[in-house]
Amino acid sequence: MSSSIRRTPLRSRTATLAAALAVPVLALGACSTAAGGDDGTLSVLASFYPLQMVAEQVGGDRVDVGSLTPPGAEPHDVELSPAQVASVAAAQLVVYQSGFQAAVDAAVSEAGPAHVVDAAEVADLETTAQEGHSHELGEDDEHADDAHDHSGLDPHFWLDPTRMPAVADAVADALSEIDPDGADTYRANAAALGTRFGELDDAYAAGLATCERRTVVTTHEAFGYLAQRYDLEQVGIAGVDPETEPSPARLREVGDLVRAEGVTTIFFETLASPKVAQTLASDLGVETAVLDPIEGLTDDAQDYFSIAQANLEALRVALSCS
Ligand SMILES: [Zn+2]
Repeated sequence: MSSSIRRTPLRSRTATLAAALAVPVLALGACSTAAGGDDGTLSVLASFYPLQMVAEQVGGDRVDVGSLTPPGAEPHDVELSPAQVASVAAAQLVVYQSGFQAAVDAAVSEAGPAHVVDAAEVADLETTAQEGHSHELGEDDEHADDAHDHSGLDPHFWLDPTRMPAVADAVADALSEIDPDGADTYRANAAALGTRFGELDDAYAAGLATCERRTVVTTHEAFGYLAQRYDLEQVGIAGVDPETEPSPARLREVGDLVRAEGVTTIFFETLASPKVAQTLASDLGVETAVLDPIEGLTDDAQDYFSIAQANLEALRVALSCS
């Protein structure tokens, strides 16, 4: 087992931390072998839902996947308990996205888990701000100081399904390194998942090909990659962080744009307050609808693919696509 674990200089510091915290899960970590759970499964920790979904699908029944973002919680600026920080050290694989959740970045840096997949390194992140948008914001430039936005890169890559297979492949590679006996399974699972992402991309491309409008007004500016992929224009009311309050000037700008372009729908999301969208829509006499950034599940009966399909239907209605 030791040959499959890359030890880092941080490891001893982790052990000290573990002893100090004396959290039960650490006992598991301290004596973990290549097979982590009692039932021989690998312990995998994902930082938030889309990465958790990928880890679950690729790992199948050979892994046990936990998430650092509780179900129904909003992952931006998540806080971690000492037990969660300890679980980062104990996990055999941590799948996270650097630059998105500062507390997770700190925990990974502190704990030095044996194996890590950083989605930011494989998902080809970029800035997706629409042309002209950043200078329209003008006096709201302090938004750029949001904790997860230091790099200026948009974190929401998972809303473009074509950016997901690279993450699935990276997870398969990491799991195969830890558990070589499962390598064929992991690669097959990643390939099957990649096929589903491809089918979703096809559905979006076809469903959004012919629409009367292409402007999507959202509260939380999470749909930049989606807009870029399917030739839509995202207009965010509140910026990339869902907690940011829009300025009166920004609300007036968006209102003018809604009237000028005949926008019918202002989208809000499930994990953040709908108040801004509802107030603005009511003032302008347009509809509201849900567009889910798929950052976390609020309903166990849903998953990434069912939510993505519901988002597509909502977009097709709002944009009058044929
Ligand atoms: Zn977000």
